[in-house]
Amino acid sequence: MINRRRFLQFTSLLSVPALGCSPPTGNYSTDVAIIGSGPAGLSLASRLTQAGIKVIVIESGPLDGYSEHAQQRNKVLDAGLGLPYPLGAATKRMTGGTSSVWGGHCPRFRADDLLCKSRFGYAEDWPITYKELENYYCQAERFLSVFNGVNPCNPIRLTDNSFNLAQYLQAQGFKETVAASVTVNADGEYQPLRLKQSHLPNLLNNKNFTLLNDLTARNFEIDKTGKVKSVLCTDNEGIDKRINCKALVICAGAIQSSRFLMLVNNQHSGFDFGSDGGHLGANFMDHNAVQVTVNANGQPSGIKRQISQGPQSIQYGQAHIWQWYGRYREQGVGAYMPLAVLENESTNTTSVPEKNIRFSILCEQEPSLENRFELSKTEQDEFGDPLPMLWYKLSDFDKRTYTHAAESLKNTLEMSKTLESSQDMQVYFGRHHLMGTTRMADNEKEGVVDKNLKVFGSKNIYVLGGSVFPSGGAANPTLTIVALAMRLSEHLIQSSI
Ligand SMILES: Cc1cc2nc3c(=O)[nH]c(=O)nc-3n(C[C@H](O)[C@H](O)[C@H](O)COP(=O)(O)OP(=O)(O)OC[C@H]3O[C@@H](n4cnc5c(N)ncnc54)[C@H](O)[C@@H]3O)c2cc1C
Repeated sequence: MINRRRFLQFTSLLSVPALGCSPPTGNYSTDVAIIGSGPAGLSLASRLTQAGIKVIVIESGPLDGYSEHAQQRNKVLDAGLGLPYPLGAATKRMTGGTSSVWGGHCPRFRADDLLCKSRFGYAEDWPITYKELENYYCQAERFLSVFNGVNPCNPIRLTDNSFNLAQYLQAQGFKETVAASVTVNADGEYQPLRLKQSHLPNLLNNKNFTLLNDLTARNFEIDKTGKVKSVLCTDNEGIDKRINCKALVICAGAIQSSRFLMLVNNQHSGFDFGSDGGHLGANFMDHNAVQVTVNANGQPSGIKRQISQGPQSIQYGQAHIWQWYGRYREQGVGAYMPLAVLENESTNTTSVPEKNIRFSILCEQEPSLENRFELSKTEQDEFGDPLPMLWYKLSDFDKRTYTHAAESLKNTLEMSKTLESSQDMQVYFGRHHLMGTTRMADNEKEGVVDKNLKVFGSKNIYVLGGSVFPSGGAANPTLTIVALAMRLSEHLIQSSI
């Protein structure tokens, strides 16, 4: 518990110490300080420490288990238009970050997901191409054990003709995709990867790696050129700590990363890190989803064959996941991707009943300056720092996309005489895929970070996470986040920090 509740006005090296300010007591030094131990933070730390670079990861949550007290630090306020769902719960303040609860679905973005502006006339193009990302996607798939890391580019095919789903999906314009899509365990079975278990033990054995838990990053100290010298943090007892570093990477998730930059901008007059173009906190995106579970009426044997036979069939424990993709940008409604999840045995690892198929279509959402975070003027967290407040509403584009997704899924089910709807189709507004708020761009007028993820106006501050995506595609975001981590690690190593 915090026993010294006070607003910590850490001072920059430039500014005059504020009245009542006490210097931080604990000091650490490292090459790279990383805020956040989720997939972004831990994948970057893995690569950097392997290359001999010293890394300290600052994690606000506990080392072991879940703490409701720490989780409260994620509180998000509604600015007045309504929140899509309780956003504070969409990320976890614990070691391993939100990988402690995620589903482990890891599709790639499509090449033209990164070219929305030039190809389809909405959002912005990414300042990097799919070709530049491809090699990092392969590295990320190995890192996250996607498709067992053996042959990441093999498609998972829906080949069993006794189960005619493929032709109905095709008739609705869906195409099979050619990438692997889920994390798997050592036996090749689908299992969401928990990074704390899978990657932290190795990291802790590396002498270049230090994890500081129960420590919340709140500010930094800079020199007169805007170079960060140290990160200023407060622990659960209210004790202040200073982490001296040569570079800082903010991997705190899409809400907290932009909030951190807003907090430091408030405290360093004369510096506006990443906020020149008015994009800091803006362009917040998630994926809306259309979902339905259907009985595989009269087809149980066909389904079993699909799982266990055929050269292309892959067995994922209890669940077989097919990845298909639909693109309806011609009608101006964005892209979406259906995933079919099939349970074949009695042991249930998900909420889907056995021998049922769950279709879940993720819908792209349009980035907009109007969907933005600001700092609350009235409400603060336990440390006295202003809470983030979200202005959020769906655009006509967003509504058209999920309506169209629902229609084409309904048509697929109606065409298939073997499938019987077992429950109403549901639309989920938001799937915990937090993106935007510090978008990547060619220049400071268009975004918050450059193509190397460095914050505009800074010398050595980087942001890594879904927050840097200029558009959200229709693929779950984490594989792309880890691919960007692989790319950033190369950049930092080459910059010889
Ligand atoms: C139920 C659920 C299912 C999901 N399923 C999928 C899926 O199947 N596929 C997929 O791709 N994505 C999925 N996601 C999203 C996925 O979890 C995120 O994309 C991913 O975790 C993002 O990684 P990250 O490291 O950027 O952020 P996070 O994992 O959120 O980690 C951020 C870390 O920063 C820490 N932190 C924040 N602020 C501070 C601070 N000031 N000081 C110190 N530490 C701080 C937090 O405690 C946290 O540990 C799912 C999410 C949820 C909630």
